[in-house]
Amino acid sequence: MIGDNTFVKEMNYKTVLDTIRTQRSVSRAELSRLTGLTRSTCSVICDRMLTQGIIIENGTIESTGGRPSIALQINNRAASVLGLKMMEGHIAAATVDLGGNIIIKHSQSIEPDLSSDAYLKRFEAFVTAIITQHNTAFPLIPMLGIGIGVGGRVSSDGVLLESSVLGWRNVALKQRLQERFALPVHIENDVNTFAIGEKFFGSGQLFDNFLCLSVGEGIGLGIVVNGKLLAGSHHGAGELGHTRVSYEPDSPRCACGKRGCLEAFASDAAVGQRYFARTGKKLGIDALLAAAEAGDEDARTVFSQMGTYLGIAVSSLVNLFDPEAVIIGGERTNAASHFMKDLRRAFEENTVYDLAREVQLIVLEPSNDEWIRGVAALAIGEFFSQAKRWGQ
Ligand SMILES: [Zn+2]
Repeated sequence: MIGDNTFVKEMNYKTVLDTIRTQRSVSRAELSRLTGLTRSTCSVICDRMLTQGIIIENGTIESTGGRPSIALQINNRAASVLGLKMMEGHIAAATVDLGGNIIIKHSQSIEPDLSSDAYLKRFEAFVTAIITQHNTAFPLIPMLGIGIGVGGRVSSDGVLLESSVLGWRNVALKQRLQERFALPVHIENDVNTFAIGEKFFGSGQLFDNFLCLSVGEGIGLGIVVNGKLLAGSHHGAGELGHTRVSYEPDSPRCACGKRGCLEAFASDAAVGQRYFARTGKKLGIDALLAAAEAGDEDARTVFSQMGTYLGIAVSSLVNLFDPEAVIIGGERTNAASHFMKDLRRAFEENTVYDLAREVQLIVLEPSNDEWIRGVAALAIGEFFSQAKRWGQ
């Protein structure tokens, strides 16, 4: 209720917390300026957060013309979350602190072709072992929640509607796991978690409207509009990899079973197939990249073709969404030096108006950790939006 004193206090608390988090290090005077709250209101809130252990005083900040002021920061080790990625044959996991820093990584292989129930029993045993280990090693860093990324369509109440990666349909994951672990569980499509992680911890903090393009084995898209993830009316938005880019009846078949999808032209498998067609040699993606690095002209050509396909796709996206930025991530950014030139050229050639000049293309450093920050952001975001209740 607007005007309700408690409501205003809660809003102020959240505003101050969000400002400290996004500024990383900030003085009380600066907080007051940035939030528009009076210095005494800011001070009362900060004192409370210090008592709760959510923020810490860490060093000083030079201020113009006065004494240096005390710097306030989020206490990253006040709490942690567990981030997991469910894949066929493999589960990756990491405990992560409130700043998105990895505490410990874990991984577990799983036999292929298990039923969802058999898979989930193993998954639960894995999670139990991690939580037990965490609570023993870090008793002062409570675990607040679990974030899970999975390839497929996930409903807003955490039902995995369909996943071609796992071969599952209509599995009520969130409900099952919350009952099992008595912790808040957040589940999201894996490419969407990439976008959420960028918004929360990464380059996306600077933008309200941006797209996250993931390249590699699959080609995925996370869409952030007005600061929020666009999941679609049926939780199916962002399936860029399966938009058809060739209508020829004999266009290449995609892993999804249809023909002519972007993935059939620009994924790892497509790049490998094009190399095979040119040379008669079958190379895995790592060997293909090594060949391009070593100067193999055929390998370089197939990567630059991949760049052209992706650049045309990005131009279509920019024509549709007119974002502030397109952030390119995923495991194949390790080949960026072989495809970005053509991606950029095709993007510039095919984008309307002067949008190509206005939109930033950002390529992330190759890292396997993007997804971890993404799934962690799911659970950490919940903590920050409800932090007032914490520590009381
Ligand atoms: Zn497809």
